[in-house]
Amino acid sequence: VSTTVFGNGRILSMDAWVGEPEVLVVTDGRIVATGDWDLAARYPHAQQIDLAGRWLLPGFIDAHHHLCLAALQPLWADLAGVHDVDEVGRRLREVAVREPDAPWIRACGWDGTPRGLHLDRWVLDELGLDRPVLVACFSLHQAVLSSAGLDALGISYRTRDPGNGRIERDDTGEPTGRLLEGAWGAAHAASMVGYDRARRWGDLIEVRARTLLSYGITAVHDAACPTAAEAVYRQLASEHRLPVSVVVLPHAAEILNGVDAERWFGPVTGEGNEDVRVGPVKFFADGGIEIAIDAHVGAYHVRFGQLFPDTPAGVTEAVARGYGVAIHAMGNAGLVAALDAWESATRHREPDNGLRIEHVTLAGPREVARMAALGVTGVVQPGFVELLGTQLGETRFDDATWMPFGDLHAAGVPLAASSDAPCNFAEPLAGTSYGVSRRTSDGDDVGIDQTIPFEEWLRLYTYGAALAGGQQDERGRLLPGLRADLVVIDGEPDAGRPVGVAQTWRGGELVYERAR
Ligand SMILES: [Zn+2]
Repeated sequence: VSTTVFGNGRILSMDAWVGEPEVLVVTDGRIVATGDWDLAARYPHAQQIDLAGRWLLPGFIDAHHHLCLAALQPLWADLAGVHDVDEVGRRLREVAVREPDAPWIRACGWDGTPRGLHLDRWVLDELGLDRPVLVACFSLHQAVLSSAGLDALGISYRTRDPGNGRIERDDTGEPTGRLLEGAWGAAHAASMVGYDRARRWGDLIEVRARTLLSYGITAVHDAACPTAAEAVYRQLASEHRLPVSVVVLPHAAEILNGVDAERWFGPVTGEGNEDVRVGPVKFFADGGIEIAIDAHVGAYHVRFGQLFPDTPAGVTEAVARGYGVAIHAMGNAGLVAALDAWESATRHREPDNGLRIEHVTLAGPREVARMAALGVTGVVQPGFVELLGTQLGETRFDDATWMPFGDLHAAGVPLAASSDAPCNFAEPLAGTSYGVSRRTSDGDDVGIDQTIPFEEWLRLYTYGAALAGGQQDERGRLLPGLRADLVVIDGEPDAGRPVGVAQTWRGGELVYERAR
């Protein structure tokens, strides 16, 4: 029996009854006791960890993270920060050489926003690669394909837009190569062949997840997980090679478009164990680029974006089959569509699980009140203050607020914190700093009235996320019986100086310690 006693720092249990005990005792991977200094004397032979004034809290749970995709990115050409077409060509040719058996040559991290590098099929064709090319935007909501890529998918000027996506066209109706939302999703799935071999995928997930431990993350919710990746996670767990616990959110697009319809008959929400558990099915109410907005600025009525028409029927089926539901909703019109779909699916059936809304990037007071009334959880990304704040410019609406985290919190909407990595940086302590400051790194104000205090973000990144993942009886608080997944952080951010992660413990074992 191995016992560890933590003390001499702030211990944040994230539980209202336990509060801040002076001592925490761990035996065989689980928390066995919390209490005051006298408690430590009862364990004279235990390993003593002197927190030296630092803070001990539950390991971070990233409630929206695309771990299985982030893990694959080292296989692809990374275009983050690349602003030069010749460099794009050089990096794509490296992939072509490294991956001779992959039918597609892929790139990731491309900035597909108007500030980024302009790419289209003709630019990619000029590079003279020997296979179809797909260049994915960091958002994972759009890509540019070469002409050979469009041909491989049978996309021509005659092809109609799918109901949930868009094929961008030039003035003559010819596809430009840019595919958005559902059209991107289909291209993404088709171009994964060769990159999704289970053994190598598992190795890459293990590597990526070890990095997450250094950020203090001990569990993630994989927010759109294909069945193949679910199997990889289970295999890794069975080999004791999965460094973080994973809640998988089965990917509804793959279920609904028939790629993966048999997933409906797999394990449902809540099944699994502390290593790999099934979460809610993931749907999209609106796009991630084409976010559905219906709002006003002065006399102007702004309508924009893409709603996913198949989502209401899918949500109804998921509820009927006993699954929980997570719906991506970024725009306020997307949020209304998501809440409508949920109310219609649950009108005649008591759901086994609640609804979570992923992102809640734009909402007005009516939508916030409706989420509170329905008991819907918001899974939010404080790091989006930096990511979107640099893109929004002066775009503000009279009747809807960007990233209304303060309003949601004040209205009593349960919140969980997350990163959306690799669409944004993964470090929870960096994300929370933007959720506190509501300023971009350039100092731009992104709604200072929507700030949430640092310690509250810590709670949303632990207990809040555990509740959103149905993991509250295994993790997220420092209570006897729960897993000893722990993180030691430096303490309070001081004058804007970010705090760091000193140690990460998983199952009672030290799995990361910062170099001194
Ligand atoms: Zn996401």
